[in-house]
Amino acid sequence: MSQTQKTLVDSFGRKIDYVRLSVTDRCDFRCVYCMAEEMKFLPRAQLLTLEELASLGQSFVNLGVKKIRLTGGEPLVRRGIVELVESLSALPGLDEVTLTTNGSQLSKFAMPLQRAGLKRINISLDSLVPGRFARMTRRDMLPQVLAGIDAVVDAGFERIKINSVVMRDHNDDEVLALVDYAQERDIDISFIEEMPLGQVTSHNREHAYCSSDDVRRLVEKAYTLLPSTDTTGGPSRYYRIPERKGRVGFISPHSHNFCDSCNRLRVTAEGRLLLCLGQENSVDLRALLRRYPGEQIAVENAILEAMMHRPEGHQFAQDDAPQILRFMNMTGG
Ligand code: SAM
Ligand code: SF4
Repeated sequence: MSQTQKTLVDSFGRKIDYVRLSVTDRCDFRCVYCMAEEMKFLPRAQLLTLEELASLGQSFVNLGVKKIRLTGGEPLVRRGIVELVESLSALPGLDEVTLTTNGSQLSKFAMPLQRAGLKRINISLDSLVPGRFARMTRRDMLPQVLAGIDAVVDAGFERIKINSVVMRDHNDDEVLALVDYAQERDIDISFIEEMPLGQVTSHNREHAYCSSDDVRRLVEKAYTLLPSTDTTGGPSRYYRIPERKGRVGFISPHSHNFCDSCNRLRVTAEGRLLLCLGQENSVDLRALLRRYPGEQIAVENAILEAMMHRPEGHQFAQDDAPQILRFMNMTGG
C-alpha cells in the first residue's frame, strides 16, 4: 500500500476530496435526457473489475479523498455492487460511501446496501404519474421505484435524497407534487437543470430547459424556502422549509455555474479519470491498473499529475447543441 499522505489540489487551488466512480455504463432505463433509445454498451472486459474499483478507491483515499459516490449507468445492475460498497466502506480515512440509483431494484437492495455500510443514497424520480414516468425513462416501472423508495425509508439510511431533472412540457407541472412526496417522507429533494451531454433526439433541449429559478418560484407557491448554508459536498444549493425536516435543493449547471468550488473528480466505467464534467480532458487509469496490478503508486502519481491539467470549468450554453458527445451514463452522473 502507498505511504503517500498527499492531497489533491489543482492549479486553480481547488482541493479535491470527492470522487464519483461509475461502476457500469449499462442501465435498465433509457431516460430521455441521459441516453438514446438504442444504446451500445461497453464489452464487459472494458469495464473496471470490482477489484480494480476497490483498488482505485484505496488510491483516492490515499490521496485525501473523503467521499466516494458510486454511480453509472445504473449501479445496481452491476453484479457484486454490495460487496464493493462493503469493501469501500471499510477503508480507513474514507468518511462516506454513497450511491445514486434509479431505484428500480431498491426493494431488493435497500437492506443489503445499508448493512454493507452505505449511509446516504440518492434516488432519481422525475414523475409520480405512471405514463409520464414511462415517457421520461422509456420504461414503465414507476411502481417498482416507489416501492424501492419505501424500502430505503424503512431501512433507516442517514440521508435520502430524491433527484429530479425538470423539463418543460414533461414534468414541470409536477414540481410541487414531488416536493410534497419528499416532505411526507422527511427526505431531501434536489431539482436539476438538464445538461447538454450526448445527442438527444426525443426532445429539444432549448425548449425543455427549466431554470432552477423558475422551479424555485414554483415551489414557493406552496412552501416558504429559507436559504441554507447546508452543503453535502456537492453543487446543490439548499433551502429549508420551516418546521420540516426535508430540504429542497437546486443543481444549476447552466444558471449558477459551480465550477469555482468544484471539489470532485469522476471516473468512467472504463476507468477514464474525467477532470471536468463538461470537458473532454481525461486520463486512462485502467491502463495503469492493468499494467501495474496491486501497485498503487503508478495510479496515484497519474492522478496527482492530472491535477495540473484540470480545466477551470465548463461552458454549457443554453441552445440545443450537445456540448459534450458522451452521454451521462458514460460520464458517471
Ligand atoms: N442511474 C442512476 C440514476 O439515474 O440515478 C445513476 C446514474 S444517472 C446518470 C445520475 C443522475 O444524472 C440522475 O439523477 C440523472 O437524473 C442525472 N442526469 C442524467 N443525464 C442528465 C442530463 N443530461 N442533465 C442533467 N442530469 C442528468
Ligand atoms: Fe439510467 Fe440513470 Fe441514465 Fe436514467 S439517468 S438512463 S436511470 S443511468
